[in-house]
Amino acid sequence: MREGPQRLTFWDGSGARGGTSGQWPLVEESIQTGFALEEVNCILCSRPGEPQFQKSDKFSPYEKFRIVRCPACGLTWVSPRPSQNEIARYYPETYSWKPETEGERGLVRRAEWWYRFHLLRFETWGLLRHTDLKPGDAVLDVGCSCGDRLLAMRRAGLEPVGVEVSPMADYAREHLGLDVRRDTFERAGFDTDRFRAVTLYNVIEHIHDPRSLLREAHRVLAPGGWLVVQAPNTKSLQAGLFGQRWAAIDMPRHLYYYSPALLKQLLEPQGFEVSGVVHRTSLLHPPTAAVSLLPWVDPQRFWAVEAGGSRLKALAARMVWAGLTLAVAPAVWVESAAGKSAIPTTFARKRPDQAADSEGWGAPVGGHH
Ligand SMILES: [Zn+2]
Repeated sequence: MREGPQRLTFWDGSGARGGTSGQWPLVEESIQTGFALEEVNCILCSRPGEPQFQKSDKFSPYEKFRIVRCPACGLTWVSPRPSQNEIARYYPETYSWKPETEGERGLVRRAEWWYRFHLLRFETWGLLRHTDLKPGDAVLDVGCSCGDRLLAMRRAGLEPVGVEVSPMADYAREHLGLDVRRDTFERAGFDTDRFRAVTLYNVIEHIHDPRSLLREAHRVLAPGGWLVVQAPNTKSLQAGLFGQRWAAIDMPRHLYYYSPALLKQLLEPQGFEVSGVVHRTSLLHPPTAAVSLLPWVDPQRFWAVEAGGSRLKALAARMVWAGLTLAVAPAVWVESAAGKSAIPTTFARKRPDQAADSEGWGAPVGGHH
């Protein structure tokens, strides 16, 4: 499975990365790349991080990024990192799943659609179960990707709206007829107090300035409204077992690595009160364990392989992925039952009495050029 990154196109419209020099340097030598990388301090306590390890970008193995850890609170993050203006070049067009690629409505894609739709229904059922949301309530899904989760929410009687920065937003609007804005959440400028819930499914770990995002979520939520955050858990059994190989360590797309306790420390100063953490996850998540075991069966890789024209290879990877996902499902169930799920969901409520903290530790402290 040596599909070079030159086969991919990226959200910023570029083709290959690294095509000029032929080989990509480590972050320390990033002066050769011409892209600005910024160093950042801990967003919880403003300290500089201590270097932990480096890991390659799975789409561009010549490029490595570094994880640092805060000596005070234990938060880990990528530093230095591509800036917000540069990050689109690290997302291939095939990064997110979408129901069908151009001209392709094969049986395999239909089966995937069916599988995903039922899992999203399960997660939406969890959303209703752990909140007091009622039919007719307006819900904003931030980073909604192709919008298939919004379909599940609509089916459950909610009134979903999405915001998404990638071209998937256009897909959601044009092909699925959903109310999705293509923009960053902060720029989209939704009305104050408009939503009964703001959901962030596997989004906050991608965000450069999560405190700014949380302040905006606080603003658009009605008093007592729900903030729902699903993110990889560094205190999970998987994270401990796989260490650096853990598939959720996906650099430089996952910028921050939280645990439920650290997420609580991030949320509460922004005017939220955490009401609970749900470790029971849908079958959508065993793939994290499966992909940690066998990185080449990563769906994001086989979608890219498929986009590159290798249908058979992609199909083989899919089959192994499906088998491995079923094989690890019992272990993932045990992990969830033990309260150490790989991707738990945190439920919090907007405290109406408290304005969000306006200080910004998340700002870059320096840059490499
Ligand atoms: Zn810290």
